[in-house]
Amino acid sequence: MKALIDLVRPNIWALKPYSCARDEFKGKKADVFLDANESPYNYPLNRYPDPMQEALKAQIAPIKQVRTENMFLGNGSDEAIDLLFRIFCRPGVDNVVAIDPTYGMYEVCADVNDVEYRRVSLDEQFQFHADELLKACDQKTKLVFICSPNNPTGNALRRSEIEAVLERFDGIVVVDEAYSDFSDQRPFRLDIGRYAGLVVLNTFSKAFGCAAIRLGMAFASQEIIGLMNKVKYPYNVNTLTQQKALEVLGDQTKIHQNIVLIREARTALMQAFAQLPLCEKVYPSDANFFLARVSDANAIYQYLVSQGIIVRNRTNVHLCHNCLRITIGTKYENEKLLKALRSL
Ligand SMILES: *Cc1c(COP(=O)(O)O)cnc(C)c1O
Repeated sequence: MKALIDLVRPNIWALKPYSCARDEFKGKKADVFLDANESPYNYPLNRYPDPMQEALKAQIAPIKQVRTENMFLGNGSDEAIDLLFRIFCRPGVDNVVAIDPTYGMYEVCADVNDVEYRRVSLDEQFQFHADELLKACDQKTKLVFICSPNNPTGNALRRSEIEAVLERFDGIVVVDEAYSDFSDQRPFRLDIGRYAGLVVLNTFSKAFGCAAIRLGMAFASQEIIGLMNKVKYPYNVNTLTQQKALEVLGDQTKIHQNIVLIREARTALMQAFAQLPLCEKVYPSDANFFLARVSDANAIYQYLVSQGIIVRNRTNVHLCHNCLRITIGTKYENEKLLKALRSL
């Protein structure tokens, strides 16, 4: 990787962060808080949240096997993605490279930040080739986005290709592992110490069952995490979210049980779906959804809507003509889907 100072936008490198009231007294003991213009009433919601979410990070660390210094928490992974653009990409000058198709937020954030978004097509097996991806990069490429298991295709990308990008690209490599809990592949978050430019994204929205609380994680070198903390809103994760996350993480057994249930249901639903006459192909999945090619995605999508069943129609996405993306639901939901499609 290049030196960090050569990758970061000059204004961000020079930025002096907002110093919030709670940062200044940190570490000292106190029971009178007259520093932040909060109301003294309506405890505990009268108090600003912990800006660095220390209790929550301490609880996440052993679960994710990542040290708290290497961890950023934000308002969904989407906050982390946007921050990376704002830290590294000069609007109208720099560019980013991503596999295609993939998660739509990378391109939205690129557009919002006026950053050129370059796509590198996956092959027929929905795999990418490091050589091809690196050919799309130039001196102004700051970020590379690799989502594995990938959305909407569902497959894990070959580890050797991701490693090749990590070894050869001189900027930041973002590996989005939102779905890694549903996969047997070794997650890249365990390798953040090995690659200076690696940023791994995780989320509470999928395997942890907490999309409503908006909590995302980024794992990276202490230096990159420091930049993210400098640029983020001071109180970016609210107290209700921090409390709920602590509560949910307290029951690891439940989280693991749910992952096992979803994985079992995935196998069963994919097998049953493949037997449907309208199904042309079910693609392999390492996630809590799968992609299937059907006879007529638009018609089947509309029919399912008329039955009160919503899936994701991906027919207009590159390489996904006539494909539906189907999330693994409860037994009731999965059966209702199959029943509706069998009576079509
Ligand atoms: C669902 C998903 C996320 C989660 O985003 P949040 O903002 O944390 O809810 C991140 N990346 C990918 C690829 C996803 O599919």
